[in-house]
Amino acid sequence: MSSDKSHCDVLIVGGGLVGSTLAYALSQAKISTVLLEERNPGFIGQPSFDDRVTALANGSQRIFQGLGLWKDLLEVVEPIKSIHISERGRFGMSRIIAEEEGVSALGYTIENRVLGGTIWSKLSSLDSLTCLAPAKLDSLSIKTDEIIARVKIDDSNHEVRAKLVVAADGIRSKVRESLGIAVLTDVYDQQAVIVNCQTEVPHGGQAFERFTPSGPLAFLPLRHNRVGVVWTLSPEKKKIISDLSDKEFTAELQKSFGNRLGRINRVGSRSFYPLTRVRSDTLISSRAVLVGNAALNLHPVAGQGFNLALRDIAALAEVLVDAQCNNNTIDLGDSCFLDSYQAWRYGDQQRVAQFTHGLIKLFGYKLGPLAITRSLGLVAFDLIPGAKGMLARQTMGLSGRLSRLARGLPLVS
Ligand SMILES: Cc1cc2nc3c(=O)[nH]c(=O)nc-3n(C[C@H](O)[C@H](O)[C@H](O)COP(=O)(O)OP(=O)(O)OC[C@H]3O[C@@H](n4cnc5c(N)ncnc54)[C@H](O)[C@@H]3O)c2cc1C
Repeated sequence: MSSDKSHCDVLIVGGGLVGSTLAYALSQAKISTVLLEERNPGFIGQPSFDDRVTALANGSQRIFQGLGLWKDLLEVVEPIKSIHISERGRFGMSRIIAEEEGVSALGYTIENRVLGGTIWSKLSSLDSLTCLAPAKLDSLSIKTDEIIARVKIDDSNHEVRAKLVVAADGIRSKVRESLGIAVLTDVYDQQAVIVNCQTEVPHGGQAFERFTPSGPLAFLPLRHNRVGVVWTLSPEKKKIISDLSDKEFTAELQKSFGNRLGRINRVGSRSFYPLTRVRSDTLISSRAVLVGNAALNLHPVAGQGFNLALRDIAALAEVLVDAQCNNNTIDLGDSCFLDSYQAWRYGDQQRVAQFTHGLIKLFGYKLGPLAITRSLGLVAFDLIPGAKGMLARQTMGLSGRLSRLARGLPLVS
């Protein structure tokens, strides 16, 4: 960033998991960037960095490796050594084991709080990046040759001018609204309850997917022998669950999960997420790109949202970094770069959105062959080597062009 904090090449609005990772990526090519975040990232109430557990696929691990962040994350992730899939009240189960798949882990779990904290801890020392937080985007004007963002810091008004604005400001994106981009919304009649707990038997790196009559239930291994629970519930069941005491809730969870990890000893606080799919009409607009939840918000059933967003920002960073490497004075908001990003990423986004939506429908079927198909599981699709490829070949066609980062190569050579 130039010493003048009001001018930059790229303004990223939203410093959640997606915006902060993109900011870090752009810093590798010294692209002058301002990152605007409404909340203080260290603040316990920062909703983007809550107790949710993200299951990082191996592709995401490669992207973080290419960015040089994996060595820090390795200290705080828990490898998934196996995934155990079962259905309550039915015979049969399947187990996918990392060793048998020829990989050291099927994926890695991490709490959003820890992932967000690790990324943000790297941002303050980057020369080309200015982080404004807490700072809130108030309004946005798009001009022919720049964008002008009006920003509130404490009670005072500021202006940031940039060549390109990236909307990473979540599902209710102010940037998207200012640009007049419409969204398609599917409201699922479901809520996810998230809670972390401790069990009598150590998880040993096992993840569990269990299909219960009230909805799919995932137990994800976490560091320090804790387990991250994601339980999808009907609104009626959610109402019952939210009114229970910790003791009653533990008993209900135990009944649904069974005794595979012995007694559930302690549970943390419960958070509830209404589940929707929100798709923006387009990923780009004049001098603007939408990423993460601002572009596409998915049901967490297959743990794909952040993994997909990482592939998007790896591609966007590559387009911008290459443009700048070829010409240091290039206008990064030029529509040719944005068109090339959209052409690259639109297909993958649509396919993942359709696939995730199809999975929700699949869970609605109680009997028949679909009930067997669904045993492939919640986290499984994005984590099992080969399963995603198989799915891609069967239902999505061959997977498209991979970014350098997604191939495990550095962004800037
Ligand atoms: C229950 C659940 C489980 C999930 N599990 C997985 C998983 O296992 N794997 C996976 O890949 N994905 C998972 N996801 C999806 C994943 O959480 C999202 O993809 C990810 O959080 C999107 O991050 P984001 O940065 O785009 O949006 P957000 O996290 O919403 O961040 C947006 C940021 O923008 C800031 N902001 C908003 N408005 C302004 C403004 N006007 N000015 C300045 N700043 C602003 C906000 O403060 C916030 O920090 C899950 C989601 C849920 C709900």
